[in-house]
Amino acid sequence: MSLAAAPSCGLTIIGGGLAGCEAAWQAARRGVSVCLREMKPVRFSPAHRSPLLGELVCSNSLRAAEVASAVGLLKEEMRRLGSLVMRAADATRVPAGKSLAVDREAFARHLTGALEAQPLVSIRREEVPAPDPETPTIIATGPLTSDALAEALSRLTGQEHLHFYDAIAPIVLAESLDMSRIFRASRYGAGDDYLNCPMDAAQYDTFYQALISARQTPLRPFEEPRYFEGCLPLEVMAARGYRTLLFGPLKPVGLIDPRTGRQPYAVAQLRAENREGALYNLVGFQTKLTYPEQERVFRLLPGLERAEFVRLGSIHRNTFIRSPGHLSEHLNFYRYPNLFLAGQISGVEGYVESAAMGLLAGINGARRVRGEPLLTPPRETALGALVSHLTNTSTRDFQPMNVNFGLFPPLPGRLPKRDRGPAQARRSLEALSAWMAEMRETGLEPLT
Ligand SMILES: Cc1cc2nc3c(=O)[nH]c(=O)nc-3n(C[C@H](O)[C@H](O)[C@H](O)COP(=O)(O)OP(=O)(O)OC[C@H]3O[C@@H](n4cnc5c(N)ncnc54)[C@H](O)[C@@H]3O)c2cc1C
Repeated sequence: MSLAAAPSCGLTIIGGGLAGCEAAWQAARRGVSVCLREMKPVRFSPAHRSPLLGELVCSNSLRAAEVASAVGLLKEEMRRLGSLVMRAADATRVPAGKSLAVDREAFARHLTGALEAQPLVSIRREEVPAPDPETPTIIATGPLTSDALAEALSRLTGQEHLHFYDAIAPIVLAESLDMSRIFRASRYGAGDDYLNCPMDAAQYDTFYQALISARQTPLRPFEEPRYFEGCLPLEVMAARGYRTLLFGPLKPVGLIDPRTGRQPYAVAQLRAENREGALYNLVGFQTKLTYPEQERVFRLLPGLERAEFVRLGSIHRNTFIRSPGHLSEHLNFYRYPNLFLAGQISGVEGYVESAAMGLLAGINGARRVRGEPLLTPPRETALGALVSHLTNTSTRDFQPMNVNFGLFPPLPGRLPKRDRGPAQARRSLEALSAWMAEMRETGLEPLT
C-alpha cells in the first residue's frame, strides 16, 4: 500500500529485513497502522542484493526443524504466535534433511507480497538517517545498519554501547566438560570464578601447532581485518610468536594447579556465561577458524575433549547494541520508552532469532500505540530465554547469541540427554499457552 493512502503512522518500523517484516505483520494484525521504511533499492548494504523485503543474505537455512532443539522450539513458538516469517518459511520449504531450509527468492517474495497486501502497512523505500525517539518506532536495521543511522543510535545510547564488530569466543555446555582435568580458581587467589584447563609444555606445543595450521574462514570483501588489539583473533596472536599466547589468553601466572601444587606451563580459562553456570565461554578465544577446525583444535584443551559447543567463535561486521542496561524486557529503551529495537541489532544472532525479536517488538510496539500493558514472554520459552539474555547478562561480557538450551532455566532433576530437548519443549509450550491467555486478557489480541 502506498504511504499517501495510509491513514497515519501509528508505528514506524525502520528496516524491512526479517525482524522488520515480522514486527510490521504483528503490529498490523493488532489493528495498528504501520509505516515500514526500507532503504533498498535506493541504497544497498554491502551484503544485500535483492530489492525484496526479508532477504536472506547468506545461507538459505533456518537451521534445525525439530521442536526438541532450541531453534526448532523457537520456530514452533513463533508459529503459534502467528508469525509471518514462519508462514513464509513453511510455504517455501526445500528438502534439507532435519533442517528447515527455504527457496530464498520465493521466501522473500512471500514476505513482500503479504506485507504489500496488508492494508494497514505502508512501505516506503528510503534510508532513515535517524529515529524519532518520541514517536512509537522500532529500529530493525540489522547487522549492516547504514552509517548515518548507526551514528544517530550511538548518539542516543552513548558511543561505547554500539558495536560494529563481533569478536565472539566459543561457548561450551558446562555439563560436557571433564572436571577431573580442570580446576576452579581466579588469578592470584581472588576467588574461584574461572574454570582453568592446565597444560604442560608438550600439551601446549600440540595445541599451538594445531592452531597455527588450522583452516580459517575467508574474509568477505567488506570485512577488512581491522582488529582492535584488545580482541585479536587467537590465531593472529599465535602467529606473532610461539610464546605470545603465554602472555595473553593462555597465561598461567597467578594460577596454581591444586593437583600438582605448581603453576602450569599454560592455562586456558573459561568464564561463566550465565547465572546458572550452565554455559562457559573460552576467554580470549575469538577466532576466524572454520567451525569444524574450532571443534577439532579446542577439544585438544585438557577437560574439553568431549566439549559440546553451543556457539562457535567468529569475528564479523555486526552492528549491535550492548543491550543489558539499555533495553527493557519489552525491547524498548529504558530512556526512550517509545523506541524499540528488534532483530540482530538488539543483540541476538541468527535469522530466526532476529525474526523472533521482531515478533515481540511488533506485539509490544502495537500495545504501546494502543495504550495496553507491554509484555515479556516467560523465561521458560525460547522467546523469553532470548529476551533474558538481552536484558540480564552482565554488560561487560555481553555478546550476541543464538538461542540454545543453556539460556533456559535448568530443568528440575537430572534427565538422560535424549529426554532433555523434548522436556524443554513441553515445558516451554505449556508456558507459552499460559502467556497467550494472559495476552488475550490484557489486550486486543488477534485470535490466531
Ligand atoms: C554477511 C552476513 C551473513 C549472515 N549470514 C547468516 C546466516 O547464514 N544465517 C543466519 O542465521 N544468520 C546470518 N547472519 C546474521 C543475521 O541473522 C542476519 O543478518 C539477519 O538477516 C538479521 O535480520 P535483521 O532483520 O535484524 O536484519 P536484516 O535482515 O539485515 O534487515 C535489515 C534491513 O534494514 C535495512 N536498513 C539498514 N539501514 C537502514 C536505514 N538507515 N534506513 C532504512 N533501512 C535500513 C537493510 O537494507 C535491511 O533490509 C548474517 C549476517 C551477515 C552480516
